[in-house]
Amino acid sequence: MNESDSEIVRAIMTAAGYSFVTEEAEADIVMLNTCSVRENAHRKVYGNIHEIRHRREGKPVLIGVLGCMATGLRKELLENKSLSLDFVVGPDSYKRLPEILRSVQEEHLQGFDVTLSEFETYSDVYPSRKEGVNAWVSVMRGCNNFCSFCIVPFTRGRERSRPVVNIVDEVKRLADEGFKQVTLLGQNVNSYRHDNHDFAVLLDEVSKVSGIRRIRFTSPHPKDFPENLIQMIAQNPKVCKQVHLPLQAGNDRVLAEMNRNYTGEEFIDLAARLRRAHPGLCLSTDIIIGFPTESDTDFEDTVRVVKEVQFDSAFIFKYSVRPNTQAARDMKDDVSEEKKTGRIIRLNMIQTDISLERNKLQVGQIQEIMIEQTERVKGGAAYGRNDANKIVALPHGEFILGQFLNVCIIRATPHQLKGECTATANL
Ligand code: SAH
Ligand code: SF4
Repeated sequence: MNESDSEIVRAIMTAAGYSFVTEEAEADIVMLNTCSVRENAHRKVYGNIHEIRHRREGKPVLIGVLGCMATGLRKELLENKSLSLDFVVGPDSYKRLPEILRSVQEEHLQGFDVTLSEFETYSDVYPSRKEGVNAWVSVMRGCNNFCSFCIVPFTRGRERSRPVVNIVDEVKRLADEGFKQVTLLGQNVNSYRHDNHDFAVLLDEVSKVSGIRRIRFTSPHPKDFPENLIQMIAQNPKVCKQVHLPLQAGNDRVLAEMNRNYTGEEFIDLAARLRRAHPGLCLSTDIIIGFPTESDTDFEDTVRVVKEVQFDSAFIFKYSVRPNTQAARDMKDDVSEEKKTGRIIRLNMIQTDISLERNKLQVGQIQEIMIEQTERVKGGAAYGRNDANKIVALPHGEFILGQFLNVCIIRATPHQLKGECTATANL
């Protein structure tokens, strides 16, 4: 989401006459587009700002913070003397950046705007993308779910969706520019709604754009996964057979405390329905370890659901307290660091075994992959991804970014597959 927002900022700044440099040392203005979903991300930004100030000591440079941290920490950021920030701008105010920068430069005052909007979707801004094979397309902004651990509703505001035609027009332009894959983005794409069009309709319309061969999306919420969306994923050949379905926890009491609105069994049932609709479907997930009050036996329920669902991969995070959230207000961060570490190590080991078993099932298959990286490939010639979003490493040969080709999967590790080219290249 932040990468996509940076592309929006790039477009707004370029239209206002600014240009971009590749080296920070050459920049007159440095913007850090920040995330505050987890505490780590947030700590890194402070470190980064200090480093930039240090590197640029004695030379004029304006430094500003954009993104979620700007909304959540406006006062702290503006008043922190050691950071001495020049501007702080939240995710709904990027159109005002040129104006804010002018006043910072001319009046030497700190600039800020962190107002959250009920309407801003940047529908009229065509993001300035780097060349590549995948284009992020933001289809909705904000979130109304208020999961008790999550800061997003406070930093990104209320849910709002872009019109279908507007998104389809953007995708057509991307196809004309040569992009073959789009990834539709939203905090909860299942809540996408515009003029009675839901997310399944949006996927269908996007899939009619010629030139686009793969459509991915992230993330759907397990609490409201309609049958028509399951069928659209299963049956539309352009929609990739991969769903990122955040579990967060397996214990029903913990899930209720998290305000997730589903039980462990309902999640298992949804995963089974998805895999029944398309047996080859790959599932990935997010899990939070050590949410307040999570006991050893509660954690065992997460292990049980993970084993039952057999995710292809999982991102596992230690719970961290986020300001303003319901959990921060009403609950104590009472699972010790030691317990969190023990649980995360154990769950990662279990998931690594499952990932390896899931990947081994693909050995011997002929799969269509798209080449996504040809430089800095460790011990090989290129990386591609199959339809299910698994990385496929190709040890030999010459490849072009964005090229589609059929490969035979010859080996599996927990985190990637190894492939060999077959005779039928598929350009
Ligand atoms: N909208 C997405 C999640 C976006 S945040 C969804 O609901 O699926 C990405 C992930 O960060 C979440 O799925 C969650 O696992 C993790 N996360 C969010 N808040 C957190 C917190 N306070 N501590 C640890 N992990 C957190
Ligand atoms: Fe956060 Fe929940 Fe919204 Fe995802 S659905 S962004 S976890 S509040």
